[in-house]
Amino acid sequence: MVRAIVGANWGDEGKGKITDMLAKESDIIIRFQGGSNAGHTIINDYGKFALHLLPSGVFYQHTTSIIGNGVALNIPYLIKEIQSLVDRGVPKPHILVSDRAQILMPYHVLFDTYEEARLAGKAFGSTKSGIAPFYSDKYAKIGFQVSELFDDALIREKAYTVCEKKNVLLEHLYHKPLLDPEELIKELQEYRDMIAPYVCDTSAYLYDAIKAGKKILLEGQLGSLKDPDHGIYPMVTSSSTLAAYGAIGAGIPPYEIKDITTVVKAYSSAVGAGAFVSEIFGDEAEELRHRGGDGGEYGATTGRPRRVGWFDAVATRYGCRIQGTTEVAFTVLDVLGYLDEIPVCVGYEIDGEVTRDFPTTARLEKAKPVLTKLPGWKCNIRGIKKYEDLPENCRKYIEFVEKEIEAPIAMVSNGPGREDIIMRK
Ligand code: GDP
Repeated sequence: MVRAIVGANWGDEGKGKITDMLAKESDIIIRFQGGSNAGHTIINDYGKFALHLLPSGVFYQHTTSIIGNGVALNIPYLIKEIQSLVDRGVPKPHILVSDRAQILMPYHVLFDTYEEARLAGKAFGSTKSGIAPFYSDKYAKIGFQVSELFDDALIREKAYTVCEKKNVLLEHLYHKPLLDPEELIKELQEYRDMIAPYVCDTSAYLYDAIKAGKKILLEGQLGSLKDPDHGIYPMVTSSSTLAAYGAIGAGIPPYEIKDITTVVKAYSSAVGAGAFVSEIFGDEAEELRHRGGDGGEYGATTGRPRRVGWFDAVATRYGCRIQGTTEVAFTVLDVLGYLDEIPVCVGYEIDGEVTRDFPTTARLEKAKPVLTKLPGWKCNIRGIKKYEDLPENCRKYIEFVEKEIEAPIAMVSNGPGREDIIMRK
């Protein structure tokens, strides 16, 4: 049985916590896209962790964590992340890395940084982790696949071809130091030795696991609105953030993904540039940002203050639909307990007309939020375990959102910890 855990919005919805929680009953947890460019925050018995490349299942000894073929694999980063867990007393997790995963190279990070600097004010707000240059190279067919590390002749030939191409840009577009193919070869050989113990034909491993009835989780990064096809292009990430891509990025049949748990946050937050219709500013925003998440809304990877706003039903209904949501995990609801009234964005006004449909980017840029207000519950809901025990206005908020997004809210998260969860069925 395969379940995908994905985000409905701009990321940071709390997928890490939901994955960590559901990992307890799972056998295998897979990252299928993205790289170390976003973080998942997890709070458990070992402490508070911000994972970037590892799946959020690494804290359980009975699970296997897989870096799927769709991931941008930064090898030294992965090794460091594993070591950082061990250093903090977490038993060494069982990790497999797809032999078809491609390698994020230091020059991808350089190109990301140089390009953001070149674009200056028009930059995409990249985390400068090398993700866009990495996926560009993958599809331009000049990327290095893990399996290729074990073929010295191939690596040598490819290193020279890649450097030739990259050096034209480095010299003439960016005016930066050139790459040395011999150094690149040495680097790749080091990577081979670092990754060798983890390499596996993970698609074949998963084929057997599915046949054996194992419980498998696909852990998405970011959310629907950052998908390169269905998101707010071009302010998107460079790999698909949708559950459907889990089939490709892990190498499993699409029809095996039975459950799609879409994580939806009780208000909105986003890192980086791009249209954000229900965004709020000033003191109102500062208060929500300060109270938000667990210790404030600041990026897990970059520490940048996140943009915040009210719940956006238009974006979230679309985000859930495009994921193929079978159930919703509604998170960070406890944070809203301070508000007398809670605004919710229920429509977009574009050129004088109100729509409930999420538009393409050019129209989205013109959208103004149509807000409605729901009464707040004015108390702390952490520690509540049963749905019926939530204050009436809190239940009304959940039920209003559920109706608006047209997807069933099966779980309500009322705190950052594993145990802060209310199951509705
Ligand atoms: P992810 O990328 O989707 O995994 O999300 P992040 O981990 O970046 O952001 C979620 C933040 O919210 C983290 O700081 C979590 O610890 C925190 N969090 C998750 N669920 C809840 C919740 O129900 N209540 C509160 N207060 N914080 C939560």
